Amino acid sequence: MSEVKAYGAKKQAASLEEMTIERRELQPDDVHIKITYCGVCHSDIHTVQNDWGNSKYPVVPGHEIIGKVVAVGDKVSNYKKGDLVGVGCMVDSCRECSACKDDLEQFCEKGMVGTYNGPNKHLGGHTFGGYSQEILVDQNYVLSIPENLDEKGVAPLLCAGITTFSPLNHWGVKKGDKVGVIGLGGLGHMGIKFAAAMGAKVVMITTSPDKAKDAKRLGADEVLISKDEDDMKKHKGSFDFLLNTVPVGHDINPYLELLKRDSTMVLVGAIEPLEKMHGGNLILGRKRVAGSLIGGIKETQEMLDFCGKHNIVSDVEMIDIKEINKAYKRVVDSDVKYRFVIDMESLN
Ligand code: NAP
Ligand code: ZN
Ligand code: ZN
Repeated sequence: MSEVKAYGAKKQAASLEEMTIERRELQPDDVHIKITYCGVCHSDIHTVQNDWGNSKYPVVPGHEIIGKVVAVGDKVSNYKKGDLVGVGCMVDSCRECSACKDDLEQFCEKGMVGTYNGPNKHLGGHTFGGYSQEILVDQNYVLSIPENLDEKGVAPLLCAGITTFSPLNHWGVKKGDKVGVIGLGGLGHMGIKFAAAMGAKVVMITTSPDKAKDAKRLGADEVLISKDEDDMKKHKGSFDFLLNTVPVGHDINPYLELLKRDSTMVLVGAIEPLEKMHGGNLILGRKRVAGSLIGGIKETQEMLDFCGKHNIVSDVEMIDIKEINKAYKRVVDSDVKYRFVIDMESLN
């Protein structure tokens, strides 16, 4: 066991502060990683706030992890000292259930082990995430990073990237489809980039008119202000696919009206009760609402390789760890362009 510095919240809704956590001894299948960068996901904030009712304290968030391998266990074959690697939202799963066998570990029937706030089978208690100097992760849950990409911009791909890539991929978004991305934050800005790279006609659907220019720079062909009823009417019944990243419970009816017959809106943001959905919005047009959770390890590697090929990274604002509490407030205020990434050197 070794002690490393970390940043976390000691109790619900507390400010994050420096603390010391324990990391396990190197196991035969382990990759020991010195963390260089860690992205800040809205889920980190939900967990600190206990918005989902299952947080365990202290919480050390962080599941968009990039770092250098400093050592590997005897059985590790895919990674070696010095490699640049990534770790996303999960660090283990049962590996035996039908979901794990189908490369969908995020839906493991026994529950995937979250990078933070998951059960820690090595040391007891719960897992601690990437707002820390080092982490040890089983080789099967470590990702390989394409060398041509900027390290800082890669960190958010490990959650925001895969969470938006996976539904676009799974629902078969293709060239020429009209795709709407709802909410221009960390997830949304990756959704625009991926949908554009897949050849779709992308419409950014936002509550913030001042983000319009950025949305176009990121790859959107058009911007739709969701608060503008006339603008919403113009786009009624015209979308082949909607990716909804709104982080809180909200009225999805106005968005359902935007879908074409037989089309789908996928929710990835609001993991909480939604306001009442009008059945007519599904029945009249045979429309669907679905959900999606990150992506499996295999698909996450495919997403990273896709990013390497298309030169896709996240647009990031770098912060020192001491600025994390201010950054959380800005994320909640929808004032992030478009992902905060912590330079973990600032914790040393
Ligand atoms: P974020 O950076 O805060 O972006 C969310 C965006 O949604 C905001 O920038 C804002 O964009 C829009 N928005 C906020 N409040 C709204 C409201 N009341 N009504 C309509 N739009 C609103 O958050 P994120 O990191 O992208 O994460 C988004 C959500 O996805 C979070 O709840 C997070 O926990 C969840 N998440 C889920 C998964 C998964 O696997 N399913 C993975 C990662 C994160 P505009 O200013 O453009 O309107
Ligand atoms: Zn996340
Ligand atoms: Zn499983």
